[in-house]
Amino acid sequence: MVIDDFMFHVSKVWYRVYWAIMVALNIAVAGAFLAVHYLPQYAYLASKFDLNNVVTGALAGITLFYLLVVYWLVLRAGVAVATLLGTMLNALVLLNGVVNVETTIGGYLYISFWIITTGLNGMFGLPVLLGSALISSIFVLLQSKFHLTAITPESLIFLAGSVAFTMLGYLFWKGRFISRQEQEMGQLSTMLKTNQTQSAILIQSIADGVIVTNNDGQITLMNRAAANMTGWTTEEGMGVDVKLVVKLTKEDGSEIPDEEYPFTSVLVHKAFINQSLQISTRDNKKKVVVSLVISPVVTSSGEVHGAVAVMRDISEQRAAERQSADFISTASHEMRTPVAAIEGYLALALNDKVSTIDSRARGFLEKAHSSTQHLGQLFQDLLTSAKAEDGRLTNHPGVVEMGEYLQQLVEDLRFSASKKGLAVEFVVGVNQAIDATKADETNRKVVKPLYYVYADPDRIREVITNLFDNACKYTDAGKISIGLTGNNDVVQLYIRDTGAGIPVEDIPHLFQKFYRVDSSATRTIGGTGLGLFICRKIIELYKGRLWVESELGKGSTFFINLPRLDNQKAQELQAAAASTAASAPPQAG
Ligand code: ADP
Repeated sequence: MVIDDFMFHVSKVWYRVYWAIMVALNIAVAGAFLAVHYLPQYAYLASKFDLNNVVTGALAGITLFYLLVVYWLVLRAGVAVATLLGTMLNALVLLNGVVNVETTIGGYLYISFWIITTGLNGMFGLPVLLGSALISSIFVLLQSKFHLTAITPESLIFLAGSVAFTMLGYLFWKGRFISRQEQEMGQLSTMLKTNQTQSAILIQSIADGVIVTNNDGQITLMNRAAANMTGWTTEEGMGVDVKLVVKLTKEDGSEIPDEEYPFTSVLVHKAFINQSLQISTRDNKKKVVVSLVISPVVTSSGEVHGAVAVMRDISEQRAAERQSADFISTASHEMRTPVAAIEGYLALALNDKVSTIDSRARGFLEKAHSSTQHLGQLFQDLLTSAKAEDGRLTNHPGVVEMGEYLQQLVEDLRFSASKKGLAVEFVVGVNQAIDATKADETNRKVVKPLYYVYADPDRIREVITNLFDNACKYTDAGKISIGLTGNNDVVQLYIRDTGAGIPVEDIPHLFQKFYRVDSSATRTIGGTGLGLFICRKIIELYKGRLWVESELGKGSTFFINLPRLDNQKAQELQAAAASTAASAPPQAG
């Protein structure tokens, strides 16, 4: 590559042409050489083309070997170098012919070819061109033994021909040289074109829908799968506003507000989005549920240049999930009834006033009773979680003032904690920063604000009871604090215990279905692993957040953030609810 860098370059086609001419010429010479030696009928050619001379055959053979084999190896160092080396060997073949057979037809042929190649040599630049002309001149001078008067007319014609072709060569090649930069550009554009085609083929072959937009939300790329989902062809979609092409609704079919439209919001927030949504085709005839992952297209300098979306059709997955959820809810619903009956009868059997049993039988029945209670809870949890998953959870939201509500609830819960000897405290903190760890300090100077949220009080009770029961279950001694704090936008509740704590590696999985920490405590304490999953689903129903902070051996705090209703809005909603209740016809039963 290094020598090649210093050489003149022309378009690659010319090197190929020159290579082909040289190959043809040397095949002719080497072929004729072999014919003369092995086929007697061609022996007469020997003297005409200098074919008795081993040097002629050897030179043509070597040149051919170079052009057909070595050339391709040298090519890695650059096409100009490889061709120039071939030209040099070829020059030896021609000049050898010119020297040895001067005035025969063969001599003239060798001469003509030399003259032609002189002109062609111009592709390697002026020095090589002039060098070729110089060789011709030296050759003529050598032939006349430097006596100008001894120069033959043939030699003069040879010289004149060489000079003429040198000049023609100069004129021909002058404008055809390309600079290193142009060469690199050429290579780069070929590379780009190949890469572009490759990427286009790849993107078109992806089974997931892929759509790329610019900063104005216009589609710049769309693959076939995306075309199938949207009902637009890939060509039609180009340059069109993505909102027109990708008709998205929420999974339940409800509209997405403009500011939440994922292609727009990804550009505003510059953050990756992963959602399950529904896409309708252009004619609204087909709808598919997709898992949509959109990322902003960010350059190395951090500028956002649009968005790229990958849409996976999860309709079948959803149908299968629905089927299994249906099965679970039907099965648990059906099984709950007999289990409740068994539990009832066992309770009756254990009731001294109703039945008389001996102490051994009592022991067995107590075990059966507690297992049945556990089974009943499991069916109940299964039913609730199946409903939570497909959004069928019964929900009657209303305005709830959390301060008063919790006060009441804590009184009810206190009893189950006291059975285990655990203290219970209720902390109301005025903490603008919602720093739950400091709520204890702030609650002492109690100024009780009204913390309104819009949620179903029964569902909130379910969550808090569940978290409170867990706190009791996994705490041997100490206290359980239930806290309430908040700022203008958020109401925060927390349930803190001084119990076993949760290992860091388990925290990310805690809210998954059936996940239980594997420890000696959980092995002895009964549970289904569904409670926290249900709690999170319920809190998410109210656009809230549930998470945990915990230190192993010291205790855990479960936090709930719910959107806060301002007092005025809360009162308006309460008034509206009261007036509809008043105007509603009394319900039967
Ligand atoms: P369950 O309590 O029925 O096992 P949950 O979903 O309510 O199921 O809880 C999941 C797991 O989280 C529990 O098995 C337990 O290991 C852990 N966990 C929940 N709450 C606490 C807590 N307050 N302290 C320690 N571990 C807890």
